[in-house]
Amino acid sequence: MNEKIYQTIRRKTREVMVGNVGVGGDNPIRVQSMTTSDTRDVEGTVEQIIRLAEAGCEIARVTVQGKKEAEACEGIKNGLIQKGYTIPLVADIHFYPPAAMLVAEYADKVRINPGNFVDKRASFKTIEYDDATYAAEIEKIEEKFTPLVEKCKRLKRAMRIGTNHGSLSDRIMNRYGDTAAGMVESALEFTRVCRKLDYHDIIFSMKASNTQVMIEAYRLLAKELDKLGWDYPLHLGVTEAGEGEDGRVKSAIGIGSLLLDGIGDTIRVSLTEDPWNEIDPCKRLAAFAKNYPVKYQIPRRRPVETCEPLHRDGSVILTVSQEEVEAPDFYEQIGCKVQLGRPEKEVGTVDAVIANFEHPKLERLAQAGVAVITDPYIVTENDWERILHDRPEFIFFAPKTDYLHNARRFFEWLFMQNIQTPVILQFAYTCAEEDLVIHSSTECGALFCDGVGEGICLEAPLPLSTLRSLGFAILQGARMRQSKTEFISCPGCGRTLFDLQEVAARIRSRTDHLPGVKIAIMGCIVNGPGEMADADFGYVGSRPGKIDLYVGRECVERNIEMAEADDRLIELIKKHDRWVEPTEELALTT
Ligand code: SF4
Repeated sequence: MNEKIYQTIRRKTREVMVGNVGVGGDNPIRVQSMTTSDTRDVEGTVEQIIRLAEAGCEIARVTVQGKKEAEACEGIKNGLIQKGYTIPLVADIHFYPPAAMLVAEYADKVRINPGNFVDKRASFKTIEYDDATYAAEIEKIEEKFTPLVEKCKRLKRAMRIGTNHGSLSDRIMNRYGDTAAGMVESALEFTRVCRKLDYHDIIFSMKASNTQVMIEAYRLLAKELDKLGWDYPLHLGVTEAGEGEDGRVKSAIGIGSLLLDGIGDTIRVSLTEDPWNEIDPCKRLAAFAKNYPVKYQIPRRRPVETCEPLHRDGSVILTVSQEEVEAPDFYEQIGCKVQLGRPEKEVGTVDAVIANFEHPKLERLAQAGVAVITDPYIVTENDWERILHDRPEFIFFAPKTDYLHNARRFFEWLFMQNIQTPVILQFAYTCAEEDLVIHSSTECGALFCDGVGEGICLEAPLPLSTLRSLGFAILQGARMRQSKTEFISCPGCGRTLFDLQEVAARIRSRTDHLPGVKIAIMGCIVNGPGEMADADFGYVGSRPGKIDLYVGRECVERNIEMAEADDRLIELIKKHDRWVEPTEELALTT
């Protein structure tokens, strides 16, 4: 067995002071969020920040798109101090360096996006960069960025070099592609300028809405920084995670996986909800990571021979008790449609149930195509060697403790033994439901993003429907199995041009039955089109009351009246043959 442990402690970082709050070093993982108010509305923004601080937020960010917003930050900072709040203020800058220069007077930290601080929005065209052109662009970065670095150094302001997967420059994309390596280089270009000027109050982020890309980018950055001997702290986040359970699951997969690797010093969970709702999942993530042993050992991926009744993209299985089976809504709980008392399998139905008893309802379930497993082959962290002798068709891995690391050791062992048997993660939890979402998404999601594990069987004293929904959400959040529409929606900020929560809920209610379709709902045109990453369809605020619609990265309808935009989006989905009627039975892809 490969017992090599690559890292046994949290990644060591230097402390960077953001106002009076230390990030990195020996500080706890800091929790942060961002307001959704118009930054020019000083009173409203102060109120939001106070509400955030009361909820436990330690650092608050506001969007600063121009000089008016930059100037408003003076009032916001003073308003907070007058009310007795010393929570640090961060200014979020895109596209407009003069706003950064001005706001550095008032804010404790300035966030710049290396994809658009100097460069214009990417054109996504192939542009040839010879070495001389490339070098000239790097020189331009130095020229435009130096004044801000000097000012931050003089005023002792911190800076976040915040790369987003969706807003890389043409220069980076043409040389590195839309990749984790490109994201890292995008940040390093700016860091070299900081270091040349002996400025080190830097924090990095590498956000993406795709959890796999996000995890890969942070790991690569941590590796590169360690190689260079640069110990700057990292701010973790999954962008445009959406709302509700899906948003929390996606965030926990990305942020939690990295925290359990020992990477990350401050976190933000971006939700399309009121900003204070972001604090609770942040705190749960930080608390979970705090007590988790750190052993950074990624198992190697192995070929897997799938078999019936497993789903090729990841299975959801539930253990059911006699009492649960006898409940009148048993079939619905496990995701079946019921017609004349008989269960029918749907896209969101579990693939199998484990039951060690017989019951007529289970027979009907089997007739409907849902497997009933009576003798699951279960191994724990202590007895997996018997697999060599028994050669089961598929395995339930049910460790008693330290799920992530025991599973990583197990998968590495399977790799070494060249065992291609599918493995279902059978993890049991006794925590509250809010913690279950965070803990199971983190542990199972980390493994799925490692490329190991062929399914999930969550056990907890909660309704079967809760466990089923969470199982499917984790598989989807880890980009394995699409059982419902994927919504990529921004959290909103001072640039948002419409009521994001209302619009997102409205669009979701009409389009949430389209597995495999990705719909982005973005509050503004400044960042929206870039940040919506690999969405199939985009709904983006272009100006007050107007919407632009996208197919992939192409804007196909501009400035539509909001009142018509929902219908036009649906027409567009239909036109591209991605629509099914909500009542229509969806094809199963088992
Ligand atoms: S996409 Fe959303 S969160 Fe991002 S800048 Fe625009 S409105 Fe703000």
